[in-house]
Amino acid sequence: MRKLLGLFIILIFAAVIILPALIIEGARLFQPPVNIQAGKQLVRVYMHQTGTVATLPLEEYLTGVVAGEMPADFEIEALKAQAVAARTYTLKKVEEARSKPDSYHPAADICTDPAHCQAWLGDDVLRQRWGLIGFWRHKNKIQAAVEATRGMVLTYQGKLIDPVYHANGGGRTESAAAVWGRDLPYLQSVPSPWDQDSPRYQADLSFSLAELDRKLGVNLAAVPVTALTPPGGTAMKVLEKTATGRVKTIKIGNKTVAATELRQLLGLPSTDFSWQVQGDRITFHTRGYGHGVGMSQYGANGMAKEGKNFAAILTYYYRGARIENR
Ligand SMILES: [Zn+2]
Repeated sequence: MRKLLGLFIILIFAAVIILPALIIEGARLFQPPVNIQAGKQLVRVYMHQTGTVATLPLEEYLTGVVAGEMPADFEIEALKAQAVAARTYTLKKVEEARSKPDSYHPAADICTDPAHCQAWLGDDVLRQRWGLIGFWRHKNKIQAAVEATRGMVLTYQGKLIDPVYHANGGGRTESAAAVWGRDLPYLQSVPSPWDQDSPRYQADLSFSLAELDRKLGVNLAAVPVTALTPPGGTAMKVLEKTATGRVKTIKIGNKTVAATELRQLLGLPSTDFSWQVQGDRITFHTRGYGHGVGMSQYGANGMAKEGKNFAAILTYYYRGARIENR
């Protein structure tokens, strides 16, 4: 009888403690890797404003990216092109994070800081930005663009490409080699005539010479205006241009500055610029908006208005790239 009781207690113990433990352990062993659950690819997103990490289904995350990176009133084919570019970039980051975690966000694949990875806007921000009706309308449209291109990415020779883009190419995109010194076959310069009838094609930015001196650490205020005016000006002149006519290096006072650096220091829309000096003010006339490499977003919108679909847009701006399903 006592033996039976002992066995009974052991059985109860097994049923209550050991069995559940084994089941949980077993379930953990058979759990899919962190980035795929229930057939859904998951992305670990570092929210740079709060410092938290959210795990989101890929397609849901991409909706917030497209909303953050392209105006929602763009043509649906342009939004689809943006969705494929965003998906390609995201999966590339997921791949990279697995082999070498990013030091800025080691616990995540990607972040919401557009200066570091790519923009992402959550529903709260979008509701504020668009209002309730706008939110419903735009979000549905963007979701449709993401859904219609589900799984599609851009590859070159079987590898995910670096799908960089900018707002407006100023009539012709720039090669990666000219901007970053990195020659990539699918990031070459192509004509982008659709940019011309679009917002952000041209802009003027004006500074006082004293302001310019302060920002650049030079002393142009002391130089006669003729020395600052092209052509023939010696204190400020373009030293080198890229093949597309953008400024590459420029002499300012006693300094030689890369145009990309000047663009950053002064907040110029692009490196495609000329200037004029009047009295104590200098005005930069710029063309295009952004670094100019890869897809022009306004160009994509212009192509879509002409009836081109997202695949035609993407393979136009990323020459030699293919659209594949992942
Ligand atoms: Zn990042």
